[in-house]
This record gives sequence, C-alpha cells and structure tokens, in this order.
Amino acid sequence: MFELFFTPGPSALYFTAEEHIKTALKKGVCSTSHRGQQFKDIYRECQQNLKQLMDIPEDYHVLITSSANEAWERIIENCVENESYHVSMGAFSQRFAKISTQLGRKVHELVVEDGTVPDFDKIEVPRDVELITLCLNESACGTTMPLETINAIRQKYPDKLIAIDGVSGVPVIPIDFKSIDTLYFSVQKAFGLPAGLGIWIVNDRCLEKAMALEAKGKMIGSYHRLPDMVEKAAVYQTAETPNILGIYTLAKVAADMLEKGILAIRREIDYKSAILNQVIEAHPQLHHFVANEKHRSKTVKVIKSDFESNLLIDHLKSKKIHIGSGYGAYKKEHIRIANFPTHSKEQTEMLVDLIEAFRS
Ligand SMILES: *Cc1c(COP(=O)(O)O)cnc(C)c1O
Repeated sequence: MFELFFTPGPSALYFTAEEHIKTALKKGVCSTSHRGQQFKDIYRECQQNLKQLMDIPEDYHVLITSSANEAWERIIENCVENESYHVSMGAFSQRFAKISTQLGRKVHELVVEDGTVPDFDKIEVPRDVELITLCLNESACGTTMPLETINAIRQKYPDKLIAIDGVSGVPVIPIDFKSIDTLYFSVQKAFGLPAGLGIWIVNDRCLEKAMALEAKGKMIGSYHRLPDMVEKAAVYQTAETPNILGIYTLAKVAADMLEKGILAIRREIDYKSAILNQVIEAHPQLHHFVANEKHRSKTVKVIKSDFESNLLIDHLKSKKIHIGSGYGAYKKEHIRIANFPTHSKEQTEMLVDLIEAFRS
C-alpha cells in the first residue's frame, strides 16, 4: 500500500496530479520557454479554470507568486502606506501582522485566544487603517471565519481594502469575492499539488492603491511590483521564469475539480468532516480544540489528546498513514488532520476506524 497523507500541508496530492505531471513531462512542459505560446496557453487555462471553480469575478486578476508567504509581503508593499489591521487567530494569521511590522508599517492586531474566532462586534478598525487582513481557515488552530463575519466587515468598512488568507480553505470553503479585494493561497494544501507555487488574486482597487502609493514616491517592489504583475498576467506572462510545471498541474487539477463539480466536492467534505467529528466526540481520550461548532474548520481538524499526540501519530505511521502533529507550541498535545478534496470517503473511513480503535 502507498503512504497516505492526511497532514495539513503539504498533504496528499490530488488523485489526478501524478498523471498530469507525467503527461507534462512527455509534452516537454518543463523545457518549454515561458515566453512561448505553449506557456501562454497553460497560464490562460489556469486563470480561466480557477475563475470558474472559485467563482472569481471576471475583472479580478489571477497572479503567480512563489507561495502565500510572498503574498503577505506583496500585499503590504502594494496596498499599505502607513497602517494595517490584522485579525490573528493563530500562528499563520500572526505572520501577516509580523511582516507588516517588518516592512515598517504601523500595525493594529486583534489577537484572539487560540481556537476561537472573534465576534463581529469585537472587530474595531481605527480610522486611518488602509487594509484589513483576515484568515478564512487558520490551519494552526483549526478555526474558520464565517462568511457572514467577512461580509459584515466589508459593509462596515467599505473604504478599506480586505485581504483574505485562503490557503487551507479554498476551493472548499466558499468565498464571496465581492466582499473582499484580494485573496491568496499556496497550492500544497486543499488543491493537493506539490509546494512551490502561490496564487494571488487582486481587484483593481488594490492596483489603484499601488499606483497611488508609487505616485507618492513609495517603493512598491521590484520584479513583482503589482502593476507589472497585472499587466503581464493580462497577456499570460510573468516577469520571472515561473513554476511552469506547477501552473500546468494546477490548471489541470482545477479542470478535474470543475468536472467533478464543486458542489459534489463540498458534499464529500461535509460527509468526511462529520465522520471525523463523530470519532473525536466518541473517543474518551480525544477532544475538539475548537469549542464553538460554528467556528470549527471542515478542512483542518485540530484535536486535543489526553496522551502525547505522537503515540497516535506513530501508531498510524506504522500503518503508512500520516497525520499532523500540533502546530508550534501545541506539537505534543494536538493532532491535526486534513480533510481535503483528494481524501476519499473510503480512506477517511479507514482512518476513522483506526482512530476509534486506538487507546494509549
Ligand atoms: C500553510 C499556510 C500558509 C503558508 O503557506 P506557504 O506556502 O508556506 O507560504 C499561510 N497561511 C495558512 C493559513 C497556511 O495554512
């Protein structure tokens, strides 16, 4: 049997990824010039498939970065002159605030207790803030920010830009792009692709902000200056020689997801999420880390164990099944399990049976 990865990222490859990579190698995708027509067709297909799959409005731009980390830096450089506001629900969302501080911006940060999501009325954004950053799915703690909260923030602060970390949420957790200005993700989580590629989606408000900053003499970056990225993406080009194999595989996997249907994918996620919840609730030594059911992630389950978590992790590893340990300081007390589109019902049922039978 193969190794099965339920780790929250990198995770199992989407089940068609290997076949697409093999085809790409045969077709010379890795050796083709990124200035040639073959690459332009690949990038166009990638943009179009993602727009359809994720319901991205036509006038949003789909850009290529190296990963989500890069998007954090690009968004601050291009969209914030002085002040940013960050809702931090765990280690990943905190990094965004840290990068803004490193880039010399004045940072306002609402840090909530791990495993919780702030109520809408706790989010008070000072007047001079230009950008609000939110995390759709905090992979460190297993929390999901409800769409109503995101939409309500937009209504309360229509003049501020809103950035969403979609990394372990999209394309599973739906998002209304009209309520946000920019969203980014890395491909090694819910999309199930090899790491080393990020997608950064921006609207024209972000672009206008970048140009306004530049007109004031602010530095908005070099080879990945937002106006250049948008201009190049419009003709299916990138400044650098990009991860062509990654873009190709993403285009093809997005097409496969479209063919399966996003609703069918979400139904499967719901079923697998329900059986994972059941086993956590039934097990005498396991507990949900996120107390409020409404804020519990469907795609990353964070579980508190009464025993040292590596006992279960190692037990499963001996059966060639990999699950994640806790993030950072929670390494020994938490278990993290991914529920991504590539994880089949049968695989998840097998995992659930093994967890159910385990006692330390
Ligand atoms: C993994 C992750 C990131 C970082 O992604 P990189 O590919 O390492 O840049 C950011 N945010 C969230 C929510 C993540 O899960």
